[in-house]
Amino acid sequence: MSADAVIVGAGFAGLYALYKLRGLGLETVAIERGEGVGGTWYWNRYPGARCDIESAYYSYSFSDELQDEWDWTEKYATQPEILAYLQHVADRFDLVRDIRFAEEVLSAEYDEASARWRVTTTKARIDCRFVVFATGCLSVPKSPEIPGLADFAGDLLRTHEWPTHVPDLAGRRVGLIGTGSSGIQVAPLLAEQAGHLTVFQRTANFSVPAHNAPLDPVEWARTKGNYRALRERSRWSASGSVPLDIEPVPALSVSEQERTSRYEERWRIGGMKFLQVFGDIYTDRAANDTAADFVRAKIADIVEDPRVARMLMPTDHPIGTKRICTDTDYYRMFNRPDVALVDVRDDPIVRIDVNGVVTDSGPHPLDVLVLATGFDAMTGALLKIDIRGRDGTRLRDHWSEGPVSYLGIAISGFPNLFMITGPGSPSVISNMVTSIEQHVDWIAEHIRFLDTHAVAASEALPDAELEWVAHVRDQAEATLYGEAASWYVGANVPGKPRVFMPYVGGVGTYRARCDEIAAEGYRGFALR
Ligand code: FAD
Repeated sequence: MSADAVIVGAGFAGLYALYKLRGLGLETVAIERGEGVGGTWYWNRYPGARCDIESAYYSYSFSDELQDEWDWTEKYATQPEILAYLQHVADRFDLVRDIRFAEEVLSAEYDEASARWRVTTTKARIDCRFVVFATGCLSVPKSPEIPGLADFAGDLLRTHEWPTHVPDLAGRRVGLIGTGSSGIQVAPLLAEQAGHLTVFQRTANFSVPAHNAPLDPVEWARTKGNYRALRERSRWSASGSVPLDIEPVPALSVSEQERTSRYEERWRIGGMKFLQVFGDIYTDRAANDTAADFVRAKIADIVEDPRVARMLMPTDHPIGTKRICTDTDYYRMFNRPDVALVDVRDDPIVRIDVNGVVTDSGPHPLDVLVLATGFDAMTGALLKIDIRGRDGTRLRDHWSEGPVSYLGIAISGFPNLFMITGPGSPSVISNMVTSIEQHVDWIAEHIRFLDTHAVAASEALPDAELEWVAHVRDQAEATLYGEAASWYVGANVPGKPRVFMPYVGGVGTYRARCDEIAAEGYRGFALR
């Protein structure tokens, strides 16, 4: 079969790309591995799964009608509510008729003579002009490299593929491996249900309270009344969300008392805005230490057993250089008599056997094991697909030393291929919905430009790509991000090249740069 464009993925990115490309008059088909729309919110159904950007902004802004008619119920929406929203979007804009579900894209090969891609899926071959990868930054889960996982005789649950029928946890011994965002969200709910919960922690992460609550109707009405202006602010902000109205000053420019009181105020507000309090948290280690010390002191206050509190205090990375978690009662949970913490840095996991997890100090018998072990982030989904560009160049080879791209959108040697929130774009550092909309709008405009100028193929130039990669690296090097062995640099996947992948210069700055490149007739692209 043939189409003008193939989109891979039907999450936030794929759905909007389908809407937009269809609007250009392109015959477009989306391919989705899952059996429904939603991407992240289709797969991650574990208890406690929520967005950590306020729902008011973790949502599309492209349609005023959609925005006006939808009401969120909580400050941070739950996974079922976000999934219902995305299903509503798919129905409202009649998107489902062009999505092929339960089908996986295996390869995509470019033919230079015809300037067309051949996309091979588990069910079909599709010949198309444009291919858009909306495959997600966090869509390929990573299993722990622990021997014996397959031997475990109890129930094995993965946060990324949470089953619809969950075994009853009441009275059972549950183990949890992984204390990133998903682990920190799911743990308190597991503790409530299980007979006993053991949390196996490799890296202590910083977490701030979400203080989630039902949306206050008056405040929500105020937001809706001012939605368009607020969205515009988000688009030009650093994070892609509406920042609090506090002028950022250096942390050490104010007295200790003033600093603590500002941190206290942010802690009371809760959420990721905690770190937007001073302007130099991400660039000055001494400033960063003040925020990290504040959170460590909070942990010491909340957790009654000082030994457990110490284990929970992150010391190996500056705060914010790994995605900060937001939680509901995570630290407090460790005060329960039926919750135990094992620090696997001190007491490493040796293997998993039929009965549970075995660490250096001995066996931990379990009935249920929950894995929240993260993702092969940003490049995992793209590199799973055999993508071959001009002259048969394989993406896996082009990226053998780490991902390179122009703007995180295009790749030299791979004409008419676009990525949504690819490595080299703000992506995972930002409110991803804002970034997704920006990318899709930009790509759609680019395609419109190609058509109005009768250009068959557009390809990033190698020099532009190298320059962009250097710019992304320079931006990261001007911050503290490099001090963390995080998934931003691929450190959680053995053998993955250590390259800092997201663009940290800010969503607004990035948008301006993309707009400038478009205004200059797509500088850095070869248009043939
Ligand atoms: P995804 O939602 O990941 O969708 C990609 C889709 O592509 C998937 O459905 C996948 O099945 C499909 N796919 C991949 N490869 C193939 C293939 N070869 N063939 C066919 N289909 C394929 N971001 C925020 O900004 N704020 C948050 O609060 C937030 N919370 C999160 C919570 C969790 C638990 C997780 C995992 C991520 C969270 N994120 C958050 C990041 C989140 O991934 C993005 O916000 C957003 O949902 C990404 O949308 P997407 O469409 O780009 O990718």
